[in-house]
Amino acid sequence: MALVVQKYGGSSVANADRIRHVAGRIKRRVEAGDQVVAVVSAMGDTTDELFALAHQITGHPDDREMDILLSTGEMVSMTLVAMALHALGVDAVSLSGAQAGLRTDAVHQRARILSIEPDRLRRELAQGRVVIVSGFQGITEEAEVTTLGRGTSDLTAVALAAALGASCERYTDVEGVFTADPNIEPRARRLEEVSYEEMLELASRGAKVMQPRAVEIGAVYNVPILVASSFTEAPGTLIHGGIAMEQFNRVRGIAHDLDVAKITLRGVPDRPGIAAGVFEPLAAGHVSVDVIVQNASAEGLTDLTFTVSKGDLGRAAPIVERVAREIGASEVATDDKIGKVSIVGTGIQSAPGFAARMFRALSDAGVNIEMISTSEIRITCIVREDRVADAVRVLHKAFELEKAEPEQL
Ligand code: ADP
Ligand code: ASP
Ligand code: MG
Repeated sequence: MALVVQKYGGSSVANADRIRHVAGRIKRRVEAGDQVVAVVSAMGDTTDELFALAHQITGHPDDREMDILLSTGEMVSMTLVAMALHALGVDAVSLSGAQAGLRTDAVHQRARILSIEPDRLRRELAQGRVVIVSGFQGITEEAEVTTLGRGTSDLTAVALAAALGASCERYTDVEGVFTADPNIEPRARRLEEVSYEEMLELASRGAKVMQPRAVEIGAVYNVPILVASSFTEAPGTLIHGGIAMEQFNRVRGIAHDLDVAKITLRGVPDRPGIAAGVFEPLAAGHVSVDVIVQNASAEGLTDLTFTVSKGDLGRAAPIVERVAREIGASEVATDDKIGKVSIVGTGIQSAPGFAARMFRALSDAGVNIEMISTSEIRITCIVREDRVADAVRVLHKAFELEKAEPEQL
């Protein structure tokens, strides 16, 4: 008898029919002899709707109240999945994040998991029940409800799998991890397996199919994660750590992200401590900064440009404007009509020519590159928002990603 933590995303529990369908899948798994914990997201776009509703009430919703509001989305779906299982004659119980023992710090809307105390979960499983857990949420030492950040039901699932020593399966509306978002590039191909490193780079550059912190926890606790469809029986993609680094000497996938904005500080005095002076207050304001470019200075002045998520721009801009006044920078400009496109693959670090090929392909398509950043296994270009989809397709072709990968070494 195997213990498995499954995760069903918002699209998989979007309405009553789909919830019944998910219950049917869980039932078959139980009948096959496995113990199942199922982590669920809120139905469809519920989280976005709750967010919008709060903003209809006030421009500045209180963080604590917001977390309680958002957590209700997952509570609705978990109870409905449990009821659907009851209707099929399967013993099941739903547990909120708090009831499942998921303890977090007190940073509302982006709380981090401190520990998981799965005693209750284990007791329910020992009684022969399926346990449905609401994703995306936990509880602080002071019994305050927290949420873990957008898309983090994945994180709940992987963290629970680690705590329980279970395997992990993430069910969604696509048949696995593809060479690019199949909704943008129809020729995208499903990858049979992908390493934690590659998945982390793809996920943190916008491939929504896995939440980056979930991949990180998977890597740290060595939890293999199967990504597959909740609608079909296709085999899916296994994310794991057992792939030899140089097995695939090629680009594995392309990620894109439209949730990007940039901030430019012009006329910044070029002296020690300026970068720290800009980025420390942003860190204190919980703004994560991504691509950073500082120009060579001319006459003791330089320009500093960096990207944040669109959602963080409203919080970041006033902080940067204050810092600009303090350090005597001449101007702050913001731009939220940009996006990111990245190529990812462990082969990138050892073979030359990937960057040149990427820039040539984009230039041949008339896509202007505004900023560039790299890691050992990734190259990212910032381009105009309305050219991102073209860029994905052009790069998919340039790196021949529609072609099957060579057999394993
Ligand atoms: P869920 O509702 O299950 O949480 P998400 O919408 O968060 O699902 O994630 C699944 C979506 O991720 C897919 O519909 C697809 O558009 C998108 N996606 C982006 N990049 C990729 C990729 N490389 N492979 C597969 N899907 C991707
Ligand atoms: N419902 C939450 C969100 O939309 C969490 C999740 O779906 O993973 O961000
Ligand atoms: Mg999601």
